[in-house]
Amino acid sequence: MLDSIQQSVLQLLPARRKTGQNGWTSFNAVCCPHNSESADTRGRGGIKTNAGAVSYHCFNCGYKASYVPGRHLTFKFRKLLSWLGADDLTVRRLVIEAVRLKELVAPEELEQVPEEEIKYEAKPLPKSSVSFDEWTTYLAMQGNDYLVPDRVVRAVHYVNHRKIDFQKYKFYLTDYEAYNLHRRIIIPYYYKNKIVGYTARSWEPDVKPKYWSSYPADFVFNLDNQLPDSKFVVVCEGPFDAMSIDGVALNGSEVSDTQVEQIDRLRREVIVVPDSDRAGRKLVDRAIEAGWTVSFPVWQESCKDINDAVVRYGELFVLKSILAARETSKLKIELKKKRLYNTR
Ligand SMILES: [Zn+2]
Repeated sequence: MLDSIQQSVLQLLPARRKTGQNGWTSFNAVCCPHNSESADTRGRGGIKTNAGAVSYHCFNCGYKASYVPGRHLTFKFRKLLSWLGADDLTVRRLVIEAVRLKELVAPEELEQVPEEEIKYEAKPLPKSSVSFDEWTTYLAMQGNDYLVPDRVVRAVHYVNHRKIDFQKYKFYLTDYEAYNLHRRIIIPYYYKNKIVGYTARSWEPDVKPKYWSSYPADFVFNLDNQLPDSKFVVVCEGPFDAMSIDGVALNGSEVSDTQVEQIDRLRREVIVVPDSDRAGRKLVDRAIEAGWTVSFPVWQESCKDINDAVVRYGELFVLKSILAARETSKLKIELKKKRLYNTR
């Protein structure tokens, strides 16, 4: 019963394989060329099964993926399945099978095999960072003749102009001048309520680059603010996009496997909204690979990203238009991708 996924995987293994000791079966690894390594010819890929659980390990390129009954099929595991020759339909069927098996496994049993935890070290913000909240308190203590520093006025104006909710999101300022930080708004990057990095956006067009950042690889912005009972999560490219509709951001148009995994762990429909510049294409391709929904909202022809649309049309309209324009069929996503990016 619980070993149905294990059975399907074993059927996909190459005919040329060796069963060794300790439950490992070895064969030529199927992952390496997908990870910029030369193909394996020495049987360095191995699979171990145990009561329905499956672990794959490649001793050539180092790729690892595993599945435990009761858990979802991770992105890495789904990729492995397709490299083993499973077609889209089979992968989809196994994803549903994993959901079905979840009902049969007691939560206590699952706790014995914890999910691989993603950890980030706490990291301080730039020197002498002061939050907007602290500035508000400070200004309230001053007399009417106090001249509010120009950079504070500019920063508040900038965030206001981008229609971000000050109550919900924190911003910082510093007078530290390295990297022009004193002319940037600092957005703290939280992970499990701890600051693990930041990005600093310049509010003056002549300050380049637009963003100065320091954060861990694979970081997904705004995971902390996702509500536990939400039916979907919107995946955007930049933090201002994410803040304007309470979605998550990838900090660009590339998505690493670990980022996919973190977003999948939210266990809800994932809706990707790519930017309409050319780099957005890459994100669409990865979304198809991850089995995510992609939305091509009506405003995409005239607005460059979600934040731009929210500034013009408001949050509610933008969210509704994202939901209305979502596509799950790979074919339709491909068609709309062509239409959006080939006309630019
Ligand atoms: Zn490999």
